[in-house]
Amino acid sequence: MLEGLEYQIRVSGRARYARIVVRRDMSVEVVLPQGFHTGQAEALLREKEPWLTRTLDRFRVHAPLKQDQYQNSRPERISFESVGLEFSITYHKTDSSQVRVSGRGSELRISGRVDDPLKLNMALQRWLKQKGKALLPPILEAESRRLGMNCHKVSVRLQKRCWGSCSRKKTVSLNAKLLFLPQAVMRYVMIHELAHLKEMNHSQAFWALVKRYDENASEHRRQLKQASRWIPVWADR
Ligand SMILES: [Zn+2]
Repeated sequence: MLEGLEYQIRVSGRARYARIVVRRDMSVEVVLPQGFHTGQAEALLREKEPWLTRTLDRFRVHAPLKQDQYQNSRPERISFESVGLEFSITYHKTDSSQVRVSGRGSELRISGRVDDPLKLNMALQRWLKQKGKALLPPILEAESRRLGMNCHKVSVRLQKRCWGSCSRKKTVSLNAKLLFLPQAVMRYVMIHELAHLKEMNHSQAFWALVKRYDENASEHRRQLKQASRWIPVWADR
């Protein structure tokens, strides 16, 4: 299940089959022939999830930075709300053609072509993904033990819109940007995905399961819809 994916539904008199359209700006549209139930859009998205994830990831890499993102993509501090970690950053321009993030503990040193916004942005995103891979799986595993769920594999990706997903092979995938969310909201996403291990749908039985483990699930779900306010520009391009 792709969580947090925003999409439009368009009903077309000319369409003969249901299909998904992904545009360069990464907007997603499901085109349904007349007479189709809108619930079929979600079924199609679920069926095409691997393709959709690949396509969105490919577009993300090639999407150009907008002007305001250039100006805001040089953070001085990075704060991982969900795990209570904070980093301060110093920049060092050197002759190296690459951008490197190094440092120990809470002090990060970024060196190389730090005046190249695209290279800097990619270096920060690589670092974020690494941090996600180190920090998120142990939290999910602890949650999964607590709930008595059996999750086979955890993967961490950096995605634009999708907070988490759960495959039929019992792999839970998490977005590294969960690190920026309040702890309770991050935990809600994990519980949501773990509940999909038992209920591979969004049925009433599924929501009952989620609410059993997170009594404020509805509130957290609402907050998640506005989560972009917690995500720094450099991580969200
Ligand atoms: Zn779901």
